[in-house]
Amino acid sequence: MTRVFSGIKPTGHLTLGNYLGAMRQWATVDQYRADALFCIVDLHALTVDHDPARVRRLSRQAATLLLASGLDPERCTMFVQSHVDEHARLSYLLECVATDGEMRRMIQYKEKAARERRRGGSVRLSLLTYPVLMAADILAYGADEVPVGNDQTQHVELARDLAVRFNQRYGHTFVVPRATNPAVAARVMNLQDPVSKMGKSDDTGPGIVYLLDEPDVVRKKVMRAVTDSGSEVVYDRESRPGLANLLEILAACTGGEPAELAASYDGYGALKRDTADAVIEVLRPLRKRHQELCADPGHLEAVLREGAERARGMARPTVDAAYRAIGL
Ligand code: ADP
Repeated sequence: MTRVFSGIKPTGHLTLGNYLGAMRQWATVDQYRADALFCIVDLHALTVDHDPARVRRLSRQAATLLLASGLDPERCTMFVQSHVDEHARLSYLLECVATDGEMRRMIQYKEKAARERRRGGSVRLSLLTYPVLMAADILAYGADEVPVGNDQTQHVELARDLAVRFNQRYGHTFVVPRATNPAVAARVMNLQDPVSKMGKSDDTGPGIVYLLDEPDVVRKKVMRAVTDSGSEVVYDRESRPGLANLLEILAACTGGEPAELAASYDGYGALKRDTADAVIEVLRPLRKRHQELCADPGHLEAVLREGAERARGMARPTVDAAYRAIGL
């Protein structure tokens, strides 16, 4: 059976982008078709300035939302990265295979390092080596596929390169993984700035719909979304990004096609109203289930404990084999 690994960073409250671009696919498709692992990658949250108590809180919240979105711990393995030592153990070996130049070429490193410097902070070494830890996350489980948004494709390419290089140098040890992108909603954009991704790590903004936003907050955010000048509803990502984003969100929520939906509207107001309704309806069951799960924190802890045990059982033989391959 195909093995799938995917992760989510506890660096902020989860957004509609996380749900439509990743979580929904995990819950409705991946956990049924594959041997799937879903990991809350808390070590990755330490690569930039953070409040440790918040990281812990957000990890638990992300895990609760994954369950609320329909991940079934009987079908898939759901766990927290720092609960499984194998990630860090393998990351070190891969650091000995990766090069400094490779790391400095990573687009996300360049962007995030520039952001940290602009804020007057120093850049943590772990921000540079982050893609190596991500490679370890993937290779430790022998994952065949890594479903990610476009922003992560370069990192999965690196994981491939490191797997091939390690195998050549020390003997066959790792499965060479490949990235897969979701067909719809690969990129939900910020409602106030539709050329940037709706990212949870950004500051709380009116352009980001959080999964736990109250319905009236969702409605306000969608109604205030920036649209482009003009009044005709057309689907054109290049010249009408604000409108295209709303149409894509509506399509992702209702199962329609953005271009066909565009043809059925003759004004922005009705499109925004319908999009707000559709988003509220998609989030309703998730919010309800989240509330129920919050009433039973013991259940979540048990799920994460069992998930970590299962994950450890899968990762340990591979990581041990990597140490043996080097002769350690
Ligand atoms: P973030 O960028 O919010 O920090 P993560 O790196 O934790 O997200 O990603 C978790 C998953 O959610 C990844 O598969 C990522 O590609 C997806 N994702 C995040 N933001 C969006 C978005 N705006 N649109 C579509 N998918 C997204």
